Amino acid sequence: MLNLQRTDLFREAAYVGGEWSAGSGDSWQTIHNPADGERLGRVPCLTRAQVADAIRAADKAFAEYRQWTGKAKAAVLQRWAALMQEHKADLARIMTAEQGKPYAEAMGEIDYASSFLEWFGEEAKRIYGETIPAPRGTQRITVIRQPVGVCAAITPWNFPSGMVTRKVAPALAAGCTVLLKPAPQTPFSALALCVLAEEAGLPKGALSILTGNAEDIGAELIESETVRKLSFTGSTAVGKKLMAACAGTMKKLSLELGGNAPFIVFDDANLDAAVQGALASKFRNGGQTCVCANRFFVQAGIYDSFVERLTKAVISMRVGRGTDHGVTLGPLIDDAAFRKVERLVDDARAKGAQVRAGGQPHSAGPRFYTPTVLTEVDYSMSIMHEEIFGPVAAITRFTDEAEAITLANTTRYGLAAYFYTSDLNRSIRVTEALDYGIVGLNEGAISTEVAPFGGIKESGFGKEGSRHGIDEYSERKYVCVGNVS
Ligand code: ADP
Repeated sequence: MLNLQRTDLFREAAYVGGEWSAGSGDSWQTIHNPADGERLGRVPCLTRAQVADAIRAADKAFAEYRQWTGKAKAAVLQRWAALMQEHKADLARIMTAEQGKPYAEAMGEIDYASSFLEWFGEEAKRIYGETIPAPRGTQRITVIRQPVGVCAAITPWNFPSGMVTRKVAPALAAGCTVLLKPAPQTPFSALALCVLAEEAGLPKGALSILTGNAEDIGAELIESETVRKLSFTGSTAVGKKLMAACAGTMKKLSLELGGNAPFIVFDDANLDAAVQGALASKFRNGGQTCVCANRFFVQAGIYDSFVERLTKAVISMRVGRGTDHGVTLGPLIDDAAFRKVERLVDDARAKGAQVRAGGQPHSAGPRFYTPTVLTEVDYSMSIMHEEIFGPVAAITRFTDEAEAITLANTTRYGLAAYFYTSDLNRSIRVTEALDYGIVGLNEGAISTEVAPFGGIKESGFGKEGSRHGIDEYSERKYVCVGNVS
C-alpha cells in the first residue's frame, strides 16, 4: 500500500527506552489517511506506568550521554541526517499517507527535517562557555554550559518530521535525552525517524517515542521531577494549559504556539514577487502552518491588480491526493479542520466578504476544500481573529502605512509577519513596528535551520533553529574561583 523500499521503517509500535513496544497490547490508536479515510495502521496507547519507565530509561541514559564529546554527538546526528537522505522517498511516502501533503512538499520537509540534524550536529562542537574579568584580583570567573537534563517534546501533525528534529536535534546536541510525544494523527513519521536514529548509533534511552493518549502521557511527563524541560509546538490553548501545569515542577519551557500572520502589500511592491510570496506563505501545506499568512492587507492603489493576479494563480492550483502527479494542494488533516474552514468562510461571506475563488468544498473528497480568495474582509469576521489553518486568503484594503501597522498588530499573536515594499526607509520603519518574532520582508518562505524561529505575545517564547536553538537545552553555570594567589 505504501510501496516502501524499506518496509521496516513503518512501525506500529512505540519506542520506549531503546525497545519497540506494543504497550499493554490491548489499547491502540488507529491512524487514517486524510485523503480517503483509509486505515493506515495503529500505534499502542502506552499506560502511565510505561511512560514512567521511559522517563527512567531517559534519566539513566542521560547520566552517560551527557559525558559524550561534541564530536561523538555530531557523528551520530550527521549519520542520522545521511540516513534520512538515503531513505528520503520512503519517509516522504509515509508522511504523505498520514498527513496528506503533496509528495513534493513531503520530500521538501525531509530535507528541512534532516537539516536540523546536520546543523545541530555541527553546533554540538560549539557549546562555548565564557570567561569574565573578575572584580577582585583574587577571583576568576568562568561560565560553563551544561545540558538541561531529560527533556519532553510534544509535536503537532502539520510537519510530522520537521517538528521532531527541530526539537530532538538541539536537545541531543546539547547532551540531553528526549521523550517525544508525536501528534496522534501522524506518529509514523516520528517512528520511522527513530528507526534511523537507532541505526545511526543513538544510545538506548536517549530518545523514546511515546504514543497514546495525549492527556495521560502529558500528565506523566509534566508531573515528573526528572523531566526538566518541555518543548511544545501546538495550539495556544493547550500551550497555556501545559505552561500552567509545568509550574508545579518549574520546568524550563519552549512554546511555539498559534499565529495570525499579516501579509502586507504596499503600493510600491514588486507585484510578481508579492503574488509568489503570497502563494508560498498561504497555500503551502494546504494553509496548515503556524506561519501561514492569515490576513492579507493590500494598499488601495495595488489592490485590484493584486487580487486579480492572486485569484488567477489560486484558481489554477491542482487539488487532490498528495501522491497524484502535479498536485499542489492536499486534503485538510481531519473533519474538524474541514468544518472550521467552512465555518470561517461562511461567517465572512454572511458578513459581507466577496468570494473571488473557491468558497466551497472540493469534489476530491470529504476533507478537501477548494482554494479560496475572499476580499472586503474586516474585523467583524471571525476569520481575522482565528487561525484559519486552511487554503483561504482573506484580503482587506488599507490606505496608508500607519493604518497597515495598526491592522497588522491588532491580534494577540506574534509569530510571523510578511510585507512587500521597494522603499528602503519604509522597510526599516515597518520591520521595527511589527510586533512579531519573525519578519519576511519581500519574502514569503522564512523557515530555515540557520535562523531563530519563534514568536512573541501569545505565540509563545523560545527559539528553534540557529545557534540560539541550543540555548533552550543548555544551562549556563557560573563558577567563581576565589583566593587565587
Ligand atoms: P492541534 O489543534 O493543531 O492538533 P494541539 O495543541 O491540540 O494542536 O496539539 C498539539 C500537540 O499537543 C499534539 O501532539 C497533541 O496530542 C498534544 N496535546 C494536546 N492536548 C494535550 C495535553 N493536554 N497534554 C499533552 N499534550 C497534548
